[in-house]
Amino acid sequence: MINVTKTYLPPLAEYTAYLEGIWERNWVTNYGPLMQELEDKLKAYLGVKHLFFVANGTLALQIAIKALELRGEVITTPFSYVATTSSIAWEGCKPIFVDINPQTLCLDASLVERAITAETTAIVATHVYGNPCEVEAIQLLAEKHHLKVLYDAAHAFNVKYKGQSVLHFGHVSTLSFHATKLFHTGEGGAIVTNDDELAYKISYMANFGHDGPERFLGMGINGKNSELHAAMGLCVLPKVEEIIQHRREVSTLYDSLLQGHGLTKPVGSPETSYNYAYYPLLFPDEEKLLAVIAALNAHQIFPRRYFYPALTNLNYVLPQQAPVAQSAAARILCLPLSHDLAAETVRQITAVIIDAL
Ligand SMILES: *Cc1c(COP(=O)(O)O)cnc(C)c1O
Repeated sequence: MINVTKTYLPPLAEYTAYLEGIWERNWVTNYGPLMQELEDKLKAYLGVKHLFFVANGTLALQIAIKALELRGEVITTPFSYVATTSSIAWEGCKPIFVDINPQTLCLDASLVERAITAETTAIVATHVYGNPCEVEAIQLLAEKHHLKVLYDAAHAFNVKYKGQSVLHFGHVSTLSFHATKLFHTGEGGAIVTNDDELAYKISYMANFGHDGPERFLGMGINGKNSELHAAMGLCVLPKVEEIIQHRREVSTLYDSLLQGHGLTKPVGSPETSYNYAYYPLLFPDEEKLLAVIAALNAHQIFPRRYFYPALTNLNYVLPQQAPVAQSAAARILCLPLSHDLAAETVRQITAVIIDAL
């Protein structure tokens, strides 16, 4: 069976070596040494100032929204994983969808201004599949209208834009380290910011509001992650370059085998150093996409419709239209991509696709 992704698991001995340390110290969670080490290594690797390792990418978004004190209307993308929208609604804000750019499938910055009202407090956008949003245009809009910017960078681990980490853009960025993501800790996520004041707020908000064992600075939640998850991250991080390299080779092979069949892919900025987090493929219509899925499934190959349906369909948001996102959501499919997908399997997958078209 071949799934859309396969979790990279380190050699078991590497993980158990960390477990032995955890057993010796008898320290399982609450800011242990592995958690500190992972945060330090991630900060250095990604080149960011503040990074908080939290329980998952959804909680990262929710804590970021709380720390930024968002309220009222929040402009966001209808084309992302559901957690982007649900976090906004969960924190009591109203998601206002602005349609996506048909090339990048990220929020279309040229459509944002007309959606801004007196109630708007922020823009929450996703770097879809790891392709950066129009970060400069969004920054100008945010400055002009005094809005906060939060990026859901769940797909953008190690993505660089114009030579620097894409995580530098916006007031806060969040990452997911879920087992299906490029870099993972089993379950996990992170909140990233360059702003010292925000970082301080995030640090206590992610730890029940604690400032020392008997003092509370304000309201907080349990956002912590454990030594067991940090250990996984410490095993996976040194392999990330290798993992990306293999995914790049697989993606290049897919590109060459699939060209000339009327299929397209979202287009990222040429100034991006990409992480090959996904291999999305756009079909001319939903009928063809469904035929291809059926053919692949018959061969025990299970791609995923990331992201389907468009988030405008959620029953807890106001009915809104986003024709570009709705069209893309109906026609897009992410093909299997992992650290050890064999060239032979890629050939098999593409042969089934071409045959079913
Ligand atoms: C995976 C993902 C999330 C949620 O992350 P979890 O760690 O699974 O909670 C949020 N946004 C996007 C775009 C994602 O792909």
